Amino acid sequence: MADESRRTAFETRAIHAGQEPDEAAAATIVPVYQTVTYTQDAIGVNRGYEYSRSENPTREALESCLASLEEGRFGLAYGSGMAAITGVVHLLAAGDHVVVADDLYGGSFRLFSQVMPRFGIRFSFVDATHPEEIDKAVCEATRLIWIESPTNPMLRLVDIAACGEIAAGHGARLVVDNTFATPFLQTPLNLGAHIVVHSTTKYIGGHSDVIGGAVIVDDEETAESLRFTRNATGGVPGPWDAWLTLRGARTLALRMSRHQSNAARVAEFLKSQPGVARVYYPGLPEHPGFDLARKQMRGFGGMVTIDLKGGESAARRMCEATELFALAESLGGVESLIGYPWSMSHAAFSAEERRRKGITEATVRLSVGIEDPDDLCADLARALGSSDA
Ligand SMILES: *Cc1c(COP(=O)(O)O)cnc(C)c1O
Repeated sequence: MADESRRTAFETRAIHAGQEPDEAAAATIVPVYQTVTYTQDAIGVNRGYEYSRSENPTREALESCLASLEEGRFGLAYGSGMAAITGVVHLLAAGDHVVVADDLYGGSFRLFSQVMPRFGIRFSFVDATHPEEIDKAVCEATRLIWIESPTNPMLRLVDIAACGEIAAGHGARLVVDNTFATPFLQTPLNLGAHIVVHSTTKYIGGHSDVIGGAVIVDDEETAESLRFTRNATGGVPGPWDAWLTLRGARTLALRMSRHQSNAARVAEFLKSQPGVARVYYPGLPEHPGFDLARKQMRGFGGMVTIDLKGGESAARRMCEATELFALAESLGGVESLIGYPWSMSHAAFSAEERRRKGITEATVRLSVGIEDPDDLCADLARALGSSDA
């Protein structure tokens, strides 16, 4: 099915993959199978569904769609991005080792540094913008290499193909958290990654109204192992959440196009503002990851990070002064959000670790929504205290 639909364009697959008319009533839109159980024709005779932790048709529709968008063969949906990440770590056993890019989502860092070591899994954190650092950290017990690109919040680029080669050379597997780029802009499985993970809470759901996660793989054995463990540990999404996420995925292409044209406008605008010391956006030619972004992505995404000249007080003032940009955690929704990484998204890291990532008290992160770009720039200008845009 995924193979069939892979022949059509992304926009078409988003709307059709996994979404054939329903068998019971030919419902054009995938129904919400809000059921725990399925009536059996006889003892041990069923129609492929027994219990909704194990199988659910709404969830399966979402999984087929996401697999198709990532150009992978198998998709698994989870109750959150962290449940998806935990599902992948559950492929490991005590004694195994993982090399992790240190520029990492705070929740993943917490799981890898505070929870999983209790089960005898070891993690080494390295600067993956230099892939040779990964190579140096790999050892006999290394099973996974774990990266994000672009990173959060400094939007650094990591060379996925180079990391994939290192992993393959050592018999390990490369995991890419593709939440920031989305499959519309980047398909890591085509670049040599073995496992893709998502927080669908962000761009894929896209409306900041549903938490979810997903894992996509090409290898059938890995898919089976993930499915077995997910059923055993229980981190599944409910049917409503799967349905909402699928509804979001259908418009991912339209939304991402607008997110990134708006982000490019906002990045250029912020460069012209006297209160702004630096603008981090992979689509700016002066960004250190610009060439790599052009090579491995099909666009530059919807996130923009800045440093303010006025330091902590100016950054805090800006975050509290915007009206359209809501001061809130999360990203990737249709509405614009502003955040202060130093004490919000990255508070779990020590001050030293934050500084090493390039985050300071003057750093502000923007998730640029799909509103009118002139209105967004005017809001930022007002918040920066400059005259109206
Ligand atoms: C939000 C996020 C996660 C965690 O996802 P949840 O849905 O909040 O559990 C993982 N990775 C990245 C890059 C994220 O932005």
